[in-house]
Formats: sequence, C-alpha cells, structure tokens
Amino acid sequence: MSMLVVGSVALDSLETPFGVRKDVPGGSATFFSTAASFFGPVQLVGVVGEDFPEEPLRFLADRGVDLAGLTRAQGRTFRWSGRYGYDLNEAQTLDTQLNVFGEFRPELPEAFRRPDFLFLGNIHPELQGQVLDQVAARPKLVAMDTMNFWIEGTREKLLEVLARVDLLFINDAEVRQLSREHNVVKAARFVLAHGPTLVVVKRGEYGALLFEKEQVFAAPAYPLDEVFDPTGAGDSFAGGFMGFLANRGADLDADSLRQACVAGSTLASFCVERFSLDRFRELTRREIDERLAAFRTLTDFRPIA
Ligand code: AMP
Repeated sequence: MSMLVVGSVALDSLETPFGVRKDVPGGSATFFSTAASFFGPVQLVGVVGEDFPEEPLRFLADRGVDLAGLTRAQGRTFRWSGRYGYDLNEAQTLDTQLNVFGEFRPELPEAFRRPDFLFLGNIHPELQGQVLDQVAARPKLVAMDTMNFWIEGTREKLLEVLARVDLLFINDAEVRQLSREHNVVKAARFVLAHGPTLVVVKRGEYGALLFEKEQVFAAPAYPLDEVFDPTGAGDSFAGGFMGFLANRGADLDADSLRQACVAGSTLASFCVERFSLDRFRELTRREIDERLAAFRTLTDFRPIA
C-alpha cells in the first residue's frame, strides 16, 4: 500500500555524552522514510537548500524513497542543533533555523495524491494542513507528529490539524504541554477528545503507550547496551509503525496496531545505536526480524493464576 510523508529534511548538529556531530543528515521526513523503507516504498515531500549534500539523497533513493516531491530551493537547508545530557530522554534544543522551510509551500506531484497511509511529520502545522488539503481521497490512516517548538508557537493551528488526523505520535513531555495535563493518561484523553482515535505517547527509553478509546497497550523500548544518539528515534518509531501496517495491508484492528507498536520500537532501537542515519546504512531485514522476535521474549510471561 502507498505511503506518503511530509516533514523536515535537515542538517543536524548534535552533542551527546558520546560525541559531537555537525551538519549530519536528519529531519523528521528523513528518519521516518528511512525506517519505513525497510517495509516498503515511501513517497517524500519536503525541501532542502542548495547546501544539502547529494549522498543522503542517493541513500534515500536507493532505499526506495521516491523523492519526486522533494524540492531543492535557493537558500540554506533547515538546521536543528540539540544537546543531550546523561539522561538521553530529554533533548535540549540549542538552535532551530527554518531557512528554506520559511517560504516552503508543499506541492504534491499527481502520483502522490492518493496515499493509503499519510504521515504528517514534525513541521509547521500549516504545511501539514496544506498537504492534507491536496490529498484526493481519504487515506486509510492519517498520522501526525509534532514537538514543543510548534506547541509553543502555533498551538491553535496545531489543534486544527489534530482534528483532521486519526493518530498522533507525540512524546510524553509534549503531550503534557499540549494538553496542559500533568498525568499522561489524562493528557492522552485530551488528545482523543480533539480528533484522533489513536495516540502513541513515546517515552524514550521507557517505551511507548498506545491509547485507543477503551484500551491501552505498552511496548517497551529494547534494552540496549549502547545508545549513542536518540535523535530520530521518534520518527523512526513512526516509520516502523506505519511501514509495518502499510506492508501488511493489515486492517487496523487492535492486534495489528499492537504489532505495529513493536515494529516501531524495533526501528527506533536501531536508530539510536549510532549517530544520524548511520545504523540504518548497514541494517538488514534479518536483524529487524531477530529483534522483533527478541521483543516477544522480552515481554512474554505466563498468565498469573
Ligand atoms: P525525533 O525523532 O523526535 O528525535 O526528531 C528528530 C528530528 O527532528 C531531527 O533530525 C531534527 O532535524 C528534527 N526537528 C527538530 N526540530 C524541528 C522543528 N521545529 N521542525 C521540524 N523538524 C524538527
């Protein structure tokens, strides 16, 4: 089934306790499409500046990401710089430069207008809405992501897009900020009252919670010996989740959604093992399958009498 993502394509500068990287490929659409590409083809809509290197674009194209909706505009690429302390769950944004995203108006190529699965990646909510406006038929699933930058600056616009989607991916600090509720369960209920029927609350090394109207499912994060850089974990989670569902052509029943959570957690776990896209460059389908199996062992226990 077809999959479309709109989001940032970025040059990230990162500081973690394990090293420093400058101007490495990042962005919500980049991580999402890379992770989803392990399950099937992805169409990408976004913009880069004149300074964005060719190599990461070749990497995406080789992975089956259709870049017909990626514009190269005059000016500098979107840049984000962030720092993580010993608690890798919390990114501290040092700088955000919108650059070419300031003027960007997404134009969906004709072939991109009927996606079965649509992911509105972390980006200005107005651009998320413009993409949704251009979709010709209602997709099977529309999901979105966002972050504190947009919750602080464009809350009303964000709530408008939220009302039009089925699923929100969001991290725990951000869902609290959006809902103005301290309790994550209450915060998720706030989201469910504003449009979506599903919410995935991402909790870094503590995993993710999937909320439906009546049920909650918890997927752990895979316990790793080494976490180098959490940047992109959230988008990789969403890419694994949606890629899994699109590839299965699965009904969006409770079992498939739970499996999708584990697929999301699996892709996120690989992302954080190296900086930027580096772990994905060598990742194989077999390693993914092995980790999916390891998740079963991790969470399986006999019913308690
Ligand atoms: P995450 O998956 O949540 O770790 O997202 C990481 C990516 O989000 C980074 O590669 C950044 O380039 C990107 N990013 C950071 N801030 C923004 C923003 N305000 N708008 C769009 N993308 C952003």
